[in-house]
Amino acid sequence: MPHTLPSDPHGFRRRGVLFVLSSPSGAGKSTIARRLLADEHELEMSVSVTTRSMRPGEVDGKDYHFTDLEGFRDMVAKDEFLEWAHVFNHRYGTPRAQVEEMLAAGKDVLFDIDWQGAQQLFQIAGGDVVRVFIFPPSMEELHRRLTSRGTDSTEVIEARMSRAANEVSHWDGYDYVLVNDDVDSCIRGVKTILAAERLKRSRQTGLIGFIRRLTR
Ligand code: 5GP
Repeated sequence: MPHTLPSDPHGFRRRGVLFVLSSPSGAGKSTIARRLLADEHELEMSVSVTTRSMRPGEVDGKDYHFTDLEGFRDMVAKDEFLEWAHVFNHRYGTPRAQVEEMLAAGKDVLFDIDWQGAQQLFQIAGGDVVRVFIFPPSMEELHRRLTSRGTDSTEVIEARMSRAANEVSHWDGYDYVLVNDDVDSCIRGVKTILAAERLKRSRQTGLIGFIRRLTR
């Protein structure tokens, strides 16, 4: 997947960062993603397609593209997903075209996807993906957060708790790990990772020309 980013003050370009944030639901990932997007203007969100129903407050096209099983299967058949997976008895997928457009426009792309998606994306992008996992401070705290959200039934919450334990067990498939016991410091950590990844030598594509000019 070729991607080049024309955002450098010194005349070299850099490839956009594919930035994956995963965590059990309720660990604060959406808040972190929202704050990152507000502060980081070169970063855009990959909006997934899902077959689950809309929660109160969610907006179609912003939080997710909501579709039915038939619509989802149709997209799979047309190879329109970069990756997709079953999560909580529903299907979630990353539309390919949107990501390619963002990279072509010189953006970094933020993915809020699970460990299965992170794994698939890693393979598709030949390892050129930054994978960040956010832990909740404890499973008790996660339960409290899921309950206080008030959007899901007890059965759904229990299912999410067991799914969370499964999600946490895949922590070793990530490049970076953070604990969200304080949202501000967690966001600072995530921003530091993004800043460092943007500066990686391997992401700078016009470096040779720059070095030549520098040493002329
Ligand atoms: P929720 O239903 O709470 O919004 O999301 C449930 C889980 O699905 C979260 O862990 C989220 O990261 C994951 N998810 C959302 N979109 C995608 C996607 O496009 N692909 C994959 N693999 N997982 C996704």
